[in-house]
Amino acid sequence: MAGPPLGAPPMGGPPGPAPASVPPPPTVDQMRTTPAASTFPGTGMGAAAHTEPPAAFGAAATAQARGLYPQADASVPGAPGAPGHGGMQPTSTGQDAYSAQFLRDVETFNSPAHFVRCSVSRLPNSASAKQRLNIPLGVVLQPLAPLAPDVEQVPSVNFGAVGTIVRCKQCRTYVNPFVQWEANGRRWNCNLCGFSQLTPDTYYASLDESGKRMDRFQRAELHKGAVEYIAPGEYMVRPPQPPVFMFVIDVSYTSVVTGLLNTVVASIKEAIQSGSIPGGQRVQVGIITFDTSLHFYNLNSNLSQPQMLVVSDLEDLFLPLPDDILVPLAESEAAILNLLDSLPSIFGETKVNESCLGSAVRGAFMAMKHIGGKLLVFGACIPSVGELALKSTRDNPRLLGTDREVELLRPAGNDGYKQLAQELTPAQISVELFLAPQAYMDLASICPLAKYTGGDVHYYPQFNINTCFVKFKSELVHVLTRYMGWEAVMRVRVSRGWKITKFDGHLFIRGQDLLVVPNCHSDQTFAIQIDMDDNVTPDPVLYVQSALLYTNSEGERRIRVHTWAALTTPNFNDIIGSIDVQASAAMMSHQAMDQSIKTNQTEGRNKLNSFCQQVVQAGNVCQTEALQYLPLYIMGMLKSAAFRATNDISADLRTYIMMRLETLSVSQTAAFFNPRLMAIHNAPETCQTPDEHGRVQLPEMLNLTSESMTQDGVYLLEDGESVYMWIGRSVDTSFVQAVFGVSSFEQIDTNSAESVVGTRGDPLSTKIANILRQVRLERPTPYMQLHVIRQGEPKENKFFAALIEDRTIGLQSTYMEFLTRMGYRPQQQAPPAGAGMMAAAPPMGGSY
Ligand SMILES: [Zn+2]
Repeated sequence: MAGPPLGAPPMGGPPGPAPASVPPPPTVDQMRTTPAASTFPGTGMGAAAHTEPPAAFGAAATAQARGLYPQADASVPGAPGAPGHGGMQPTSTGQDAYSAQFLRDVETFNSPAHFVRCSVSRLPNSASAKQRLNIPLGVVLQPLAPLAPDVEQVPSVNFGAVGTIVRCKQCRTYVNPFVQWEANGRRWNCNLCGFSQLTPDTYYASLDESGKRMDRFQRAELHKGAVEYIAPGEYMVRPPQPPVFMFVIDVSYTSVVTGLLNTVVASIKEAIQSGSIPGGQRVQVGIITFDTSLHFYNLNSNLSQPQMLVVSDLEDLFLPLPDDILVPLAESEAAILNLLDSLPSIFGETKVNESCLGSAVRGAFMAMKHIGGKLLVFGACIPSVGELALKSTRDNPRLLGTDREVELLRPAGNDGYKQLAQELTPAQISVELFLAPQAYMDLASICPLAKYTGGDVHYYPQFNINTCFVKFKSELVHVLTRYMGWEAVMRVRVSRGWKITKFDGHLFIRGQDLLVVPNCHSDQTFAIQIDMDDNVTPDPVLYVQSALLYTNSEGERRIRVHTWAALTTPNFNDIIGSIDVQASAAMMSHQAMDQSIKTNQTEGRNKLNSFCQQVVQAGNVCQTEALQYLPLYIMGMLKSAAFRATNDISADLRTYIMMRLETLSVSQTAAFFNPRLMAIHNAPETCQTPDEHGRVQLPEMLNLTSESMTQDGVYLLEDGESVYMWIGRSVDTSFVQAVFGVSSFEQIDTNSAESVVGTRGDPLSTKIANILRQVRLERPTPYMQLHVIRQGEPKENKFFAALIEDRTIGLQSTYMEFLTRMGYRPQQQAPPAGAGMMAAAPPMGGSY
């Protein structure tokens, strides 16, 4: 740390807002204080047209409120309800009465933003309008998104009295608030395909003077964009599947000595004993362990001890007992807990340090294919024997950061794990991977097993029970207890003139457009890229309807339907003004990842650069919040561990990050590219006392630059994956004493600090604990581990790599330099005086 870093006050000086040692680039601030895009007064249709997600669950609460705006209520750029979210903004270009009425309908009826977010809410109506701003058009769906208790639940709709669910005879769209009624209600027109059809007699209602059904506010499906139908028998091909959890656990030497086995056992036990696994009496559980052979367990409740059966012949795998591998949890709970308790001692002395993970999945498949369910695989080392064995020699760190890195990010050989996934999916089996290795594991080859069965990947490199226990346990318990849908399939329909060009997310596409997700859950997010149909003029309105058919844990067949509408327009400014920054960023990230794997990562970054150039250049002509903030997110992507051209990210880690981004919610994706930074050494008193829900208001968000920091400060940074606490070396000793229980900066033991924070009983300690809890509360998954860092420690590089407005390891440009390179031309002002100084004097004594 050379020079006068951080613009710190003299030693002992009062902590306070960071005085900048060099003026921040003025144009950045100018950009940020540009007035909001014009909204249409009088219609009540500002940027907050979408229902704001509930606190602690949706984007607004999880918001990286960045303090970019001078207003006191500045919140996250691009979050729903915040500047730059777009929304249905009527504009001053002269909307006719139809449009005004339609926009009111959209505000009232569209499925809320926690379920559906589109990159724009006014779509181009022609190819030429689209080409003027070539940002990705698409919708991000989180069909089972969790809801806070104070948010309206999704209404259930029962068509039992009607006889059948009313759907379009031509395109199978579900009846929804936007269908048009005619012949006094005797006929209806499908809003997606335009087909005119008879209303079933049992569903008839007369119309009012405006042509709307008289009963529409008595029927949820006619005035709610998000409804859940109770599916009648015709939506079942077999009795509804029960919740099934098959645990497949690595018991190799590595798993035992790192404490992975103990951690898995303790976590499963906690989930079972808490009674919070959904499904009650219907839940079935099985346990298989593996090293170089497979171990099945008879969990029949009539046995005094679970019986272990070893299968060593991996070439010719067979099930040693046909029944009693999967057993009802309610009947066999004692046997299951008993077995879990004894696993660490059974394998405590093992010397076997190899894995037949592929064969273990095959064995589990054989034991559960008659019924389907969730397959949870816990692995500590690379599969080296049996089916789908892999080679650790494939790893080649010299390729990292080069155009050949992509070779390590693609699956080895013939993509065997994807083929295995294709066998599992029709049997309604979804794989959740918990990988906790000490060395290279070849995630690129293994992860397709989760990806194509609708599962997720959880990755704990250098796993150690002492540092990873809480995170691992929280994440496993969350996976076992969140809202789940079984044997799920989804269809997404778009209206005339539009087509779906790509699905992103963890799913399997069967046939043309049937998305198969054997186990769908509340975190699951899909992105759908859309485009105009060739040679067809789109209707004035785009409609998107998704229908997720699933079995809930209580055994009821349900159809969760989301309907969303937006007007099209020839007007460039209307389109620009409607950009949802975070949803657009998420769509760009999907496209750039695709490109990175298909060609190489340079091409992926080029894609982001070209998006950014278009956005910046459009912003030179037409200033809106979206065009101001989108470049910041794109720069965040280029500097992130997902896209940057550096050799400090292992192939396994890069694969994990990409797997995670493929299925992350919009707000989590946004946080990853544009983290939150806040000062906690001077946190306001409002953080002292939680409200009745245990929530506190977080300190003001700071710009992501070391200019925001002082050497006597303590800062929290979170990116939706981890929380970092950076402690300046001139920190007040009373802070150190209160929070860590030691008398000086030098004495803080950063390795054990997490377990101390919030336990000291001191008011200041409690305040810090409240802030930390609030940050975690706003990100239900994954559990964000706290990393405490003292100024000057090597690991602070990770912290500074996230300060994206500075030069970072990922990209040696400040935000201003980056904007300039993208073609930014400051308007009405002289060139930024600060920009040159920034180049001469990088902040924090160096760039990271
Ligand atoms: Zn239709």
